[in-house]
Amino acid sequence: MSLQTPLSKLIRTTKSHLNLLNGLGINTAEDLLLFFPRAYEDKSVFTSVSQIIPEETNTLRGTLSRITHHRTRNGKTLSKALFSDETGNVEAVWFNQPYLKRMLQSGQQIILSGKAKVAFGKLTLQSPVFEEPKVEQTHVGRIIPIYHQTEGLTSKWIREKLKPLIDDWLTYMEEYMPSWIIKEYDLTDYKTAVKEAHFPSDEKKLEEAKKRLAFDELFLLQFKALQKKWRWQNIAEHEKKVMPTHPELQELIRSLPYDLTNAQKNCLKEILNDMEKPYPMSRLLQGDVGSGKTVVAGAAIFNAIKNGYQATLMAPTEILARQHYSTLFKLLQPYGFNIRYVSGSTSESEKKQIIDGLKTGIVDLVIGTHALIQEGVGFKNLGLAVIDEQHRFGVRQREILKASGSPHLLSLSATPIPRTLAMTIYGDQDLSVIDEMPAGRLPIITRIVPENKRNDAYRWIEERINEGRQAFVICPLIDESDVLEVKSAIKEYEFLREHVFPKLNVGLIHGKMKSDEKDTVMDSFSKNIIRILVSTSVIEVGIDVPNASIMIIEGADRFGLSQLHQFRGRVGRGEHQSYCFLFTQSNTEEARNRLNAMVQHTSGFRLSEIDLSLRGPGEIYGVRQSGIPDLKMASLTDSFTIKLARDAASALLAKDPELHEHTPLKEKIDALGEVYVKD
Ligand code: ADP
Ligand code: MG
Repeated sequence: MSLQTPLSKLIRTTKSHLNLLNGLGINTAEDLLLFFPRAYEDKSVFTSVSQIIPEETNTLRGTLSRITHHRTRNGKTLSKALFSDETGNVEAVWFNQPYLKRMLQSGQQIILSGKAKVAFGKLTLQSPVFEEPKVEQTHVGRIIPIYHQTEGLTSKWIREKLKPLIDDWLTYMEEYMPSWIIKEYDLTDYKTAVKEAHFPSDEKKLEEAKKRLAFDELFLLQFKALQKKWRWQNIAEHEKKVMPTHPELQELIRSLPYDLTNAQKNCLKEILNDMEKPYPMSRLLQGDVGSGKTVVAGAAIFNAIKNGYQATLMAPTEILARQHYSTLFKLLQPYGFNIRYVSGSTSESEKKQIIDGLKTGIVDLVIGTHALIQEGVGFKNLGLAVIDEQHRFGVRQREILKASGSPHLLSLSATPIPRTLAMTIYGDQDLSVIDEMPAGRLPIITRIVPENKRNDAYRWIEERINEGRQAFVICPLIDESDVLEVKSAIKEYEFLREHVFPKLNVGLIHGKMKSDEKDTVMDSFSKNIIRILVSTSVIEVGIDVPNASIMIIEGADRFGLSQLHQFRGRVGRGEHQSYCFLFTQSNTEEARNRLNAMVQHTSGFRLSEIDLSLRGPGEIYGVRQSGIPDLKMASLTDSFTIKLARDAASALLAKDPELHEHTPLKEKIDALGEVYVKD
């Protein structure tokens, strides 16, 4: 046999059980070995009849007598037995387990474990699990593994199948972790860890096993990420693009109508430092909405062009790309750079001209959507690529970038996630965080609006709009259906226009509109012709309209905190006090906790930590699609182990980046899915 042998050849079971296993992704011996329990129940501590604790699970050793089987009025079986040990007797009952007729025998030595209940003043054990005493127990009298269960496939079944085979199977299992890592991080060996995870000898051994397996999961992920960065940065001599910080950069920064915040300065320093290195930068610039990432990116672009290179900035949507274009044009045009914008509506002839300009090097900076890169745009000398909202930028696009000459790569993200999580998910990038907002911003006032206050809220909003302000209305997220979401946005738009704000100019924007239609709407909104803009949730990122000071979010409970925070970041950009109104029909505790967090906190990082603790990493915006495999033993919130694993992974990477000397580990890492966020 090998660990790849199909289970059908190794265990006697039914087709339907094999199908159920298959549904859980378990087809081979190895799959089953690595199907770790999701929880444990400690049935290792024995009690005696006289010490039984009602309402709790009690595990006892003794004998059975007076076994009876009845049929109840509704045709079910009821089995009873008297259980005795040296301290007394207690009745055990089982409901509807007719096969017990064959299994229970009077005088039988038994270990049983079940919940004790008091009924009619009498103590009984309810449907206890039982087993004969053995040298090594499987179901009772020890710490019991509880597996993820599906209909028809119980933990008991898995325990029964695995128990007699596990020792044999484990002889085929290889230790893949270098011995110096095992030693340095004080890890249990792999075989022992796998065995103990399924059938723990005791609490301490179980903890050690979990520690080893959690370490491994995080180590593999991090090694893969670091290796990806290493591959990105490991380039040929002729590709080296060293860009010392240009003296005129100070002038650009002085020309700004404001001072950079300290956080902006520090991040810019880190970026400029990277650009001086003889290998391409791989850096993620994270900062709350409105923290001023664009100007930092603009400074980096300036530096690249001043060093004689071309630059590009790509955004996920046309609206964003256009906005970046207008900001960067204003910032950089005075230096005589050739800056071009490519959109879906750029004419073929203009596009051709731009593409030619990029090839010959006449165009210094091109701004567009992510589509830019797929269209095989060739650069003469691309030195810096800035990607806005990197979680939508896939691995393939990265490869194309590498093919266009390994530029320095700077990603911008307004999705704040806790640093330890970022290390794991975006571990292939160094991290710079703008953790400070420009001075003088008024905090946004956030309120949860109950349904019976809706009209009051509308009237209050109307007054603010009559004072000159503008408002956004975000429509509820509708899972899996853009079309339905657009429909509901149209309905909301018509309702508000006809019934709520008939005197005001209400506009609509959604993802199914053509790009020039969207541009027209955004243009009217930024000119304050449209006063209230109804939008689907797709238009969440980056739009900068400082006069908009009111954000209304419908169905707020359907969004994660990070996403709500993104929406809220659309306002509070100007001099006016801004407001965010959260409408919700849900009254669950979870929803209330989450929305209250929005009222209490303004920092996106704080909110992302709360989201992580309330809902787990899978739900954090952008993380769900990150391709991170389900972690079985590790937790993405376990910063201690994350750091240990990171250290170990870096140390190994320094020794053997392609793992030529570590074949078993290489196989494990290559088998891991690519961790990235899909478009
Ligand atoms: P984001 O990080 O969300 O991309 P932007 O770069 O769009 O933020 O910046 C938001 C606004 O803040 C812009 O209008 C920008 O001009 C302004 N801004 C950026 N940095 C500062 C600063 N240090 N002081 C004051 N305003 C700033
Ligand atoms: Mg931005």
